[in-house]
Amino acid sequence: MPAHAVIIGAGFGGLAAAIRLRARGFAVTVLEQLDKPGGKAYAFSREGFFFDAGPTVVTAPHFLEELWELADERMSDHVDLRHVHPLYRIRFHDGTTFDYQSDHESMLAEVTRVAPEDVAGYERYIALSGKIFDMGFGLIDQPFDSIGSMLRILPALIRLQSYRRVYSVVARHVRSEKIRQVLSFHTLLVGGNPFTTTSIYCLISHVEQAWGVRYPRGGIGALVSALSDLLERMGGRIRLNSRAAEILVESRTARGVRLESGEVIPADLVVSNADSTWTYRHLVPAVARRRWTDRKLSRCKQSMSCFLWYFGTRRQYPDLAQHTILLGPRYRELLDDIFTRKHLADDLSLYLHRATAGDPDMAPPGCDSFYALAPVPDLDSETDWVAQAEPYRQRIERVLADTILPDLQTEVQVSSVTTPQDFQDRMACTRGACFGLQPILTQSAYFRPHNRSEDIDRLYLVGAGTHPGAGLPGVLASAKVLDKVVPDPVSFRGEP
Ligand SMILES: Cc1cc2nc3c(=O)[nH]c(=O)nc-3n(C[C@H](O)[C@H](O)[C@H](O)COP(=O)(O)OP(=O)(O)OC[C@H]3O[C@@H](n4cnc5c(N)ncnc54)[C@H](O)[C@@H]3O)c2cc1C
Repeated sequence: MPAHAVIIGAGFGGLAAAIRLRARGFAVTVLEQLDKPGGKAYAFSREGFFFDAGPTVVTAPHFLEELWELADERMSDHVDLRHVHPLYRIRFHDGTTFDYQSDHESMLAEVTRVAPEDVAGYERYIALSGKIFDMGFGLIDQPFDSIGSMLRILPALIRLQSYRRVYSVVARHVRSEKIRQVLSFHTLLVGGNPFTTTSIYCLISHVEQAWGVRYPRGGIGALVSALSDLLERMGGRIRLNSRAAEILVESRTARGVRLESGEVIPADLVVSNADSTWTYRHLVPAVARRRWTDRKLSRCKQSMSCFLWYFGTRRQYPDLAQHTILLGPRYRELLDDIFTRKHLADDLSLYLHRATAGDPDMAPPGCDSFYALAPVPDLDSETDWVAQAEPYRQRIERVLADTILPDLQTEVQVSSVTTPQDFQDRMACTRGACFGLQPILTQSAYFRPHNRSEDIDRLYLVGAGTHPGAGLPGVLASAKVLDKVVPDPVSFRGEP
């Protein structure tokens, strides 16, 4: 019998980990508590409208392509990944817009139109983003489980001023507040506040320019299905509706998983794709933890949460781009409310996804499928989301109707919401924070929960809560780290 790896969670990180371990010869079983794989990328439909619940922006597609290559297959035979143009349309509060593009010339034209004084500064910023990329991107699939690994990159981190924050680095290069927002909002896509996220994340600008932004035909759900099918073709097993209640530990070594049903699944190694704080606090017995004690976990800074409104309209809004960022009247102050004051503000900034711009089949003919995402504080805000969900949805509807979706109130055909409370109750996100730990310097690389558990032998972590962090490239890279820290299956043979 080959060594058996049990993976808790079928998010992108869990599926990628399972595929990689299977390719190395492990028998793999993925346990997923929900009725479908995908995690944050859960997909669902209502009355012919199809919705991606979470990620919509695919960058760095080679991390995905590699997974098919492990099985001697080509991703393009299974997934139709298409470029998106513009990458984002940013609409400022005064109604002006900025089309964020992947090619340098178009970006320069947009900067020239909106803030001609910032063209030179923009070019310097993009050059810096490229340097940070050259230093930082190669590290995202490397293990950081020794202080030596951290010390080795320290000189480069200092040279590139990684102790600075994304917004402050952007602001040193460009003066226009609009361009500062255009170049800094991206950290929100990985749950980070641009005012506190380490400037290593400035590399995102380069990543988007290098590989563009893509969207699969059939939505992100089609990508998740294709990955699940790949795993099953390789002989891996996905067990849905199977919630892990405990990682079984003997002599500080993971030996298997007990499901909520009471069933015990023995394992030679366990990989948790669940939220890292949740994994340690709820799945690993406290007596077995020396580093990730409840006290330490409670001091970790969690990312923000999101309120999502999924809706389908009877008509189309053909002029709308696929990704629109609708900036409200406040930027820094709103982010302070979300991340620091943990206060649900009256004003909103929104990300609007029009899936039908990427694939018209995501809705019935003549209709559009959307989601609106409002970044909101985690559950520390003590918002009663059962009571607040509908008024908050209506507020989003009003903002959209007054700006880019005229007559929206009468056009909505299907509607559903996800609140921070749902992220905690359905997906086991600590305090409803849906991107894991915040990507601040003191919670990055060596300082983040390691991919190879510090506390338990044969326990490994993948996904947003471990190194390198949230976002599809990050969680796919975390699975790649396992190739470096999980010994070959043969080394598990003959042991009890
Ligand atoms: C609204 C939203 C929009 C986003 N947009 C983008 C984007 O456009 N581009 C991008 O790159 N990133 C985006 N992100 C971030 C990205 O989606 C996530 O970081 C990534 O999908 C998380 O993957 P993961 O591997 O950490 O697993 P997750 O998706 O977190 O999945 C973990 C899985 O584990 C399961 N699980 C948990 N506990 C248990 C248990 N005890 N037993 C069994 N199963 C369990 C959960 O049900 C879940 O399915 C977005 C995130 C959100 C929330």
